[in-house]
Amino acid sequence: MVQSQVKPTTTITPFEQKLDRPLTKAPITTLQINLGRKCNLACNHCHVEAGPNRTEELSPAVCAQLIELIQRFPQVTTVDLTGGAPEMNYGFRPLVEAARCAGKAVMVRSNLTICLEPGYEDLPDYFARHQVHVVASLPCYLENNVDQQRGAGVYSRSIQVLQRLNQLGYGQDPALRLDLVYNPPVPRNAEFSLTQSQAALETDYKAYLQTQFNIAFDHLFTITNLPIGRVKQYLQGKGLFSPYVQFLESHHNPGTVDHLMCRDQLSIDYLGQVYDCDFNQMEQVPSRLPSGEALTVAHLLQANRLDLLEQIQTRPYCYGCTAGSGSSCGGALMDA
Ligand code: SF4
Ligand code: SF4
Repeated sequence: MVQSQVKPTTTITPFEQKLDRPLTKAPITTLQINLGRKCNLACNHCHVEAGPNRTEELSPAVCAQLIELIQRFPQVTTVDLTGGAPEMNYGFRPLVEAARCAGKAVMVRSNLTICLEPGYEDLPDYFARHQVHVVASLPCYLENNVDQQRGAGVYSRSIQVLQRLNQLGYGQDPALRLDLVYNPPVPRNAEFSLTQSQAALETDYKAYLQTQFNIAFDHLFTITNLPIGRVKQYLQGKGLFSPYVQFLESHHNPGTVDHLMCRDQLSIDYLGQVYDCDFNQMEQVPSRLPSGEALTVAHLLQANRLDLLEQIQTRPYCYGCTAGSGSSCGGALMDA
């Protein structure tokens, strides 16, 4: 693990100046749809600042536009549903079914515990029936760490749901993919460290979960805490925001840039506005057409084209995606 103590300074190189060429879009293959901020949990690392009292949700009109988008463009191979807890939105099942009917892979970013809430108990069977790829957050394989980040009892409920998914064939049947996501703890002092090696941590997770609970899963995705949302507020409160961004910058790895998730995806919010990634969505940094206008789903449908963007909108928090082995919603971008 790389550790370093960064001296406080305000100098941060603009991300685009760090690159040897402009960061541009590749052909779009993935639609990541954020169905809203509502969630049954309220984790302290949540970059979406989701929780049970949030009311922002996908409207029926935008849901209909998204289904049209999914059905119209064969170049989209993957529909990635996120939130909040995306399963809580009424549009979740119509989007899953439209995407599967159109032959797309569907991923759901699930906190697992939603599957034990009243009215959602059939979700594991639903996922299996539609061969939904489950990407489940489990910020650590140890109970105390998970309950500290996500709330008391979350670990044991997550384990219960993982066991149910295994019973249905997840983690064994190649058509039923189950991946876990590791979130590092939010830095509490200026001794920052890069996220551990994904391969090594996956080995530890697999050994522990197999031995203790007989749980199997496919892969572990490790991600870096980006200094946005609740993490940003926390770091600012401790005077650690600029030092943390500077730490990330000091570990910028140019080899990650071609693999950044913003290159071939569109991130869409519950209002139908388009962003280069979920992080830009949370920070309200919209994708912009060459004319400077902010892009919406309505523009894509009207133009009958997905590849309308040239430049990716970058900010200093982009260093969180390029530090060390890199980071994305699909885990590290390179081997350690
Ligand atoms: S489960 Fe996910 S979306 Fe919900 S509060 Fe936690 S991190 Fe945020
Ligand atoms: S935050 Fe990461 S994924 Fe988003 S635009 Fe920046 S580099 Fe790309």
